[in-house]
Amino acid sequence: MSYVDEVIERVIAENPNEPEFHQAVREVLDSLRPVVDANEEAFRRDALLERLVNPERQIKFRVPWIDDKGQVHVNTGYRVQFNSAIGPYKGGLRLHPSVNLGIIKFLGFEQIFKNSLTGLPIGGGKGGSDFDPKGKSDREVMAFCQSFMSELCKYIGADTDVPAGDIGTGAREIGYMFGQYKKLRGVFEGVLTGKGLSYGGSLARTEATGYGLLYIVEEMMKCHGQSLEGKTVVVSGAGNVAIYAIEKAQKLGAKVVTCSDSNGWIYDPEGIDVAALKEIKEVKRQRLTEYKTYRPNAEYHEGKGVWGIKCDIALPCATQNELGLEDAKKLVANGVVAVAEGANMPTTAEATEYLQTNGVYFLPGKAANAGGVATSALEMSQNSERMHWTFEQVDEKLKGIMVNLYHNIDNAAKKYGFEGNYVVGANIAGFEKVVDAMNAQGIV
Ligand code: NDP
Repeated sequence: MSYVDEVIERVIAENPNEPEFHQAVREVLDSLRPVVDANEEAFRRDALLERLVNPERQIKFRVPWIDDKGQVHVNTGYRVQFNSAIGPYKGGLRLHPSVNLGIIKFLGFEQIFKNSLTGLPIGGGKGGSDFDPKGKSDREVMAFCQSFMSELCKYIGADTDVPAGDIGTGAREIGYMFGQYKKLRGVFEGVLTGKGLSYGGSLARTEATGYGLLYIVEEMMKCHGQSLEGKTVVVSGAGNVAIYAIEKAQKLGAKVVTCSDSNGWIYDPEGIDVAALKEIKEVKRQRLTEYKTYRPNAEYHEGKGVWGIKCDIALPCATQNELGLEDAKKLVANGVVAVAEGANMPTTAEATEYLQTNGVYFLPGKAANAGGVATSALEMSQNSERMHWTFEQVDEKLKGIMVNLYHNIDNAAKKYGFEGNYVVGANIAGFEKVVDAMNAQGIV
């Protein structure tokens, strides 16, 4: 059995009931075969892949908090510090009822390669809790965030581990967590990113993941002799990534006709009204059903459905495994040209393969949504030098990072004979830097 297959088998046996983690490991290791097979003896001797798939540290803790009626609740908190070969652990905190150790491990594992691809000195980590901020009062969210940080603060710091936002963790949650960290540790430092502008946040961080997604799609289309001008785009999600992906796509001349949340989806043939979407989701924290009060001609449908709408470009920006094989078939039948993942692992393995074999340009999340973490690293730089850069400065750096990233993964794919396969390109390019750093630092 090949070394790659051996390690995949062991990961499945040793981490039972963690299907998302198995999926992420399989996807990465499968595409690393050309590199691993060429160095099999040395990698096996050094247990390189075992060291890569085992987190350096995983922390699981109790998070008790009191609701507005005086009832005590207990959630579970996680922080997986996966790999610090190229810098302090960096990765978001997900607050969603579906969160479990396997999901945090899949996200942390992906994060290693994504962070490496940004070209910036950040290692991989991820955390979160099964707490659901939806429907909670501000005071309840604060109580949870304070309790969560009371434990987490023992393990993080500006030079060790710098968490950020993710699903369910936006500016409000980061603010409460930062306040609690500062109170307990007595230091004002860049321990979290995605902070508010009045206390060390970076301009353009809110927009970064969605904007970055469009910068890399634009570069890819340009390299294939196409542009975004006049293209029809479908987007899933209506959160941080989706909103700013829609905004930038429309600024670049495309028409975005869908968005969704976990209850339903919108089809607006005239193009999504971003100002209305921001008001519903960012200001009023409402459901998408409200969209029709702003745009009576738009359609609201319960359940899933955006992938059935005819489009040139599809951008899944909600959550993992939201685009399956049947969805991919509909997209191909409707003539889709490109799919780029704003979310982490939104496309199943079968759907990815179907899209690629049908000639669709497919950009995996670890490359396509790396703009968020890249800008978080820029926030860390600004915190370290106690400076603020302008929106334009940050946005320009973000664009430069995404354009470089595209060429980096494109070149890696070409170098190993997989031209146009950006999944292979991203995994290999991300892996090479991490392995180089791990080898240089010895067996630790
Ligand atoms: P938000 O919480 O802001 O938004 C998530 C959106 O996806 C919401 O519209 C939400 O709907 C929907 N959603 C979440 N879970 C599900 C589900 N199980 N089924 C259907 N819809 C769902 O999160 P973000 O926009 O920040 O994150 C979206 C994705 O992008 C995630 O995969 C995240 O890991 C990834 N990502 C985020 C980055 C960032 O900077 N924010 C950076 C890189 C990746 P509802 O409100 O109804 O739950």
